[in-house]
Amino acid sequence: MRTLIRGVRVFDGERTVPEADVVIDGDHIGTAAGAVDAVIDGAGKTLLPGLIDAHTHAFEGDLAEALTFGVTTELDMNNLPPVLAAQRRQAAERDDVADLRSSSMIATAPNGHPTQIMTADLLKALGTDRTLDTVADPGEAKAFVEARLAEGVDYLKIAIDDGGSSGLRLPALSPELAAVLVEAGHAAGLRVIAHTVTAREALIALDAGADGLAHLYSDVNEEQAEETAARIASYDAFVISTITYIEAVTGDPNGRELLRDPRIAARMSDRSKATFGREWADIPMHSQGVMNASHAAAALRRAGVPVLAGTDCTPFGPVHGAGLHHELLLLTEAGWTPEQALAAATGTTARLFGLTDRGRIAPGLRADLLLVNGDPTTDITATRAIEEVWRGGVRRRWAD
Ligand SMILES: [Zn+2]
Repeated sequence: MRTLIRGVRVFDGERTVPEADVVIDGDHIGTAAGAVDAVIDGAGKTLLPGLIDAHTHAFEGDLAEALTFGVTTELDMNNLPPVLAAQRRQAAERDDVADLRSSSMIATAPNGHPTQIMTADLLKALGTDRTLDTVADPGEAKAFVEARLAEGVDYLKIAIDDGGSSGLRLPALSPELAAVLVEAGHAAGLRVIAHTVTAREALIALDAGADGLAHLYSDVNEEQAEETAARIASYDAFVISTITYIEAVTGDPNGRELLRDPRIAARMSDRSKATFGREWADIPMHSQGVMNASHAAAALRRAGVPVLAGTDCTPFGPVHGAGLHHELLLLTEAGWTPEQALAAATGTTARLFGLTDRGRIAPGLRADLLLVNGDPTTDITATRAIEEVWRGGVRRRWAD
């Protein structure tokens, strides 16, 4: 089956082509030459690579919700092995769910973040009684990484968070133990992503050798954000944004704009809608985190540090799928151009995670595609005007 999308504006993962013909040839993007079986008129529309959310936690139902909103790949950043195995199976066998990569369990100190929120009740709600493994001393690092390799992980995640950004006191990995874990991860060929929420923790993680940070630092003012960005630029590392998450856990109501946008609300599940009333507790985050993280996003971009769009979505909010469209809006509100935001959810993320088969629109790549009405390269919210979603060349079927 060859489908031609004719005369469409293309954001190819890096830049915009005002008008092009793109062919979906089976499960991949083909070349325009030759006969086709179907034609879609692309006038007034924009074709994008399927979106990649660089920070999620995928539980039952989440990957379907993601695909509904054009998120074709989720990068899970902490999960429990039985849940993860089921989600990976769905991602491999079904074409109505987003694809998935994962770290499986995060490496943290005994009683360290996020064990304080992963309570028995929460785990029960998630359908498992498996608790997180923790790492108490350097002698345990190699076994921890080997256990994750046995679970088939794509990268390693570690936590460096003493809770101080919100006055909590949590045990955290020491800088030395973090370095040993990073070394064990690298020795196994894994990228290492660190959960950190303050500028100080970010620099500890980078000194330990981490390849990326799972959140923007969110505890320092505009001037300090600039200084921190300059220091981070001296490392070869990336940062995942998650301003959406910072909004949710600090009680900022701005994320509710999704519920007021008919393009989003019409397709959002009742389960996702119900998460917006949730109250959060015991999560380390500075009370001015949203404003601080926005300054950090702007400063890091100016300093040339790659920032990837991620939401930290969970079954309890922020929401899968739609949340990434909100994150893109927040990045433009932080001063980015729409194209910079789009690259942060497509081409840049694919490049930095070694996902060489996706994230861009070019012949031979996997046909993970999003067709929208309008022009998100000038109005970022046009990503919400979804016409079609293809996952590996399979067109998502809409009930309506
Ligand atoms: Zn997370």
